[in-house]
Amino acid sequence: MDQLPPYFFYIAAAVIGLELGGLSSIFIQRWIDNVPICRPGRSICPACQSKLEWRDTLPIMSYFLLRGRCRHCQARIGAQYLLVEISCLAWSLALVNLHGFSLAWGIHLVLGTMLIAGSFIDFETFLLPDRITLGGTSLALATAFLLKTPGWQSAMIGCLVGALAFWVIERLYVWRGKFGVGLGDVKLMAMIGAMVGVEGLPVTIVLTGVLSYLALGIMALRMGRDVFAKPIPYGPFLSLGCMLSILYGKQILVWWGRM
Ligand SMILES: [Zn+2]
Repeated sequence: MDQLPPYFFYIAAAVIGLELGGLSSIFIQRWIDNVPICRPGRSICPACQSKLEWRDTLPIMSYFLLRGRCRHCQARIGAQYLLVEISCLAWSLALVNLHGFSLAWGIHLVLGTMLIAGSFIDFETFLLPDRITLGGTSLALATAFLLKTPGWQSAMIGCLVGALAFWVIERLYVWRGKFGVGLGDVKLMAMIGAMVGVEGLPVTIVLTGVLSYLALGIMALRMGRDVFAKPIPYGPFLSLGCMLSILYGKQILVWWGRM
């Protein structure tokens, strides 16, 4: 594969990332609507049930070609489809930059896509599907055994420490009778701890904190004090913190050390 020019791998990573993004937006929609995930047949418009043609299901492109509306009934297509596809595209490209076009790229692409799908579902429903969090934990642990990044001991300890820390926080929320970190977040932290390893957890947690405070700040500017009364889903921030830590964790630690 050495003879192929480098841009070839970026194009391949972009196409595969976009396709995975398209598949995960179908997964997200079907999970939220509580319909069978593996239902055969072509996708349908959720508003008018008409079957979508192939040209209506091209990642990103279709959204703009259709100007965000269904060809048949003109119902608005949620911008989340677009965001999921763009997120998967960006993740795939950043990963191929990090790992090259390799097995590590492929597995992390799948793990990251699971985090992206989980984030959008959590954002809409405040739930995280077990097949994402527990399935992801198994895949992340298997990856650590297979690729040794992070080492399997580090992945196992990260998995346990991450889940245990969030389980304690979850119990505290329940004890105080408040809605906050849930069991879904505990399982998500098992997956994330296994992905970043125990030495990656501090950077992941700090990034998650910074990102969620930034988001709260932006929302407070737009909505005023009401924002603090509303529950926020932690899944998207934990997932983004994890993905940024995988991509830039080492640089962040070096930068940290210099301060
Ligand atoms: Zn329609």
